[in-house]
Amino acid sequence: MNITVMGTGYVGLVTGATLAYTGNKVVCLDLIESKINDLNNGISPIFEPGLEDLIKSGLKNKNLRGSTDIENCIRESDLTFICVGTPSNKDGSIDLTYIKSASASIGRALRAKEEHEHTIIVKSTVVPLTTEEVVLPTIMKKSGWKREQLGIGMNPEFLREGSAVKDAQNPDRIVMGVSDDMALKQMKKLYEMHNCPKQKCIPRTAEFIKYASNSFLAAKISFVNEMANLSNEWGIDFEEVAEGMGSDSRISPLFLRAGAGFGGSCFPKDVKALAAASKKNKVESKMLKATLEVNETQPLNVVRMAEERLGVIKGKRVAVLGLAFKPDTDDVRETRSEVVINELMEKGALIIGHDPKGMANFKKLVDIEMAETAMAAIKDADCIVLMTEWKEYTELNYKNIKEEMNGNVVIDGRRGFNQKRMEETGFDYKAIGLG
Ligand code: NAD
Repeated sequence: MNITVMGTGYVGLVTGATLAYTGNKVVCLDLIESKINDLNNGISPIFEPGLEDLIKSGLKNKNLRGSTDIENCIRESDLTFICVGTPSNKDGSIDLTYIKSASASIGRALRAKEEHEHTIIVKSTVVPLTTEEVVLPTIMKKSGWKREQLGIGMNPEFLREGSAVKDAQNPDRIVMGVSDDMALKQMKKLYEMHNCPKQKCIPRTAEFIKYASNSFLAAKISFVNEMANLSNEWGIDFEEVAEGMGSDSRISPLFLRAGAGFGGSCFPKDVKALAAASKKNKVESKMLKATLEVNETQPLNVVRMAEERLGVIKGKRVAVLGLAFKPDTDDVRETRSEVVINELMEKGALIIGHDPKGMANFKKLVDIEMAETAMAAIKDADCIVLMTEWKEYTELNYKNIKEEMNGNVVIDGRRGFNQKRMEETGFDYKAIGLG
C-alpha cells in the first residue's frame, strides 16, 4: 500500500517504520525539516530501542522515506495516517490545533488528486467525536470531495515508549474504529498479518477506548501509590502486598509497582483531557481528578524522605539518577524528576543529574548541572535519589557507590535497588512502599 504518515514523532515514526518493514511504501511527513533530514540520513530523531535499525532497513529497501512536501506526497498515496501531537490547553482540555491543520492539509492535497478515493486514519489520541466532527468535515470542506469518496477511520495507538517497536510489531490488540467499508477494508488489509484480537467499532468508541484505557492505568498507579504511602506508615513492605493483590486474576500483577508517580507524553495529558471533557459534558469525574492530584503530590514524598534523613537539604549535594520519565527512552515530558528536582532546588540542594539518554531534553526543562556518567554524578554526593530505574543504575556496584559518596543516604523513587544489599553495604536506604 502507498501510505503517508503525518507527524514524524514517536507514534508517526514507529508506525511508518513498522509499516515499511511489513512491505508498504511509506512516506513520513513533518513540518520540521531537521527531523526529516535525520530520518533520510538513517538517524532516528528520537531514542527508541530498535528504531534506528528499522529506519535503516526501510531506507535501504526503499520502502521508507521522509518528506516535508506534505500535500504532494499525500496526493500520491492511498492512505494517510494522522499522527500529529494533541497537547493540553492551559485548562487541561485537548488542543486540536495540529489535528485541524493536518486535516486541512489533507483536504487541500485531495482537492488536486486525480483518483477520487482516499482513506484517512486518525492515530493521534483525540477525545470522542473528533474524527467524525472535526477531521471528516474539515477534509470534506477543503477537498470538495463527497463522503463516499473517503474512507474514515480511527485506530488508537497503544505502544509504550521504551518498547515501542516491539509493541508496534506485536500488538496485543488492534482497535479499528471505522465509519465506512473503505476504511474497514484498508485497515483489515494493513493489519492482516497480526493474529491478535481485532475489535471493529465506530470511531468515537475507538477514541474512547484509548482514553479509558490510559485513564484506568493512571488511576491504578495513583491508587497503588496511595496504598504504598499508607503501608510506609504501618511498616509494611508494599511489594508483598502487591504480590498478594496481583495473584487475584481480576486485579493482575501488572501496574502494581509503587513509585514517584507517572509521567510521559500520554498518561498526564490524556487523563487531563478526559477530565476536562467529562466536565464539559457535565459528568464530572471525581476519579480522574483524584488520579491527577495524587500524581502531583507523590514525587514530593521522595523529597520528604530525603529531608527526614539529611536533616537540612540546604547546601546538600544530591545526585538525581534518571531524568527520563521511564527507562529506555529519552522522553522527559511530564517526568516526575522535574518535580523532585525543582522541590529540592527550592530547598537549597545542589543537584547533579544524570540520565543515559534524556539529559539533552531535560536541560531544556530545567538547567541543572549534569554529569557524564552515573558514577561522576554520585561522586561526593550526600544523597542519591533514584528517579528512573535504568538497568545501568540498578546494576551499579553498591560498594563502589559507597566509596564515591560523601554521605550514605539513598532515596529510591522506583524500588530499583535491592534493600537488603543496600543496607548491608551501609546505606541509609528508603523507598516508597518499603515500610
Ligand atoms: P510528537 O510531538 O512526538 O510528534 C508529533 C509530530 O507531528 C511533530 O514532529 C510535529 O512537528 C508534527 N506535526 C504537527 N503538525 C503537523 C502537520 N500539520 N503536518 C505534519 N506534521 C505535523 O507526538 P507523539 O508522541 O508521536 O504523539 C502523537 C499522538 O499520538 C498524540 O496524540 C499522542 O497522544 C498519541 N500517542 C502517543 C504515544 C507515545 O507514546 N508518545 C502513544 C500513543 C498515542
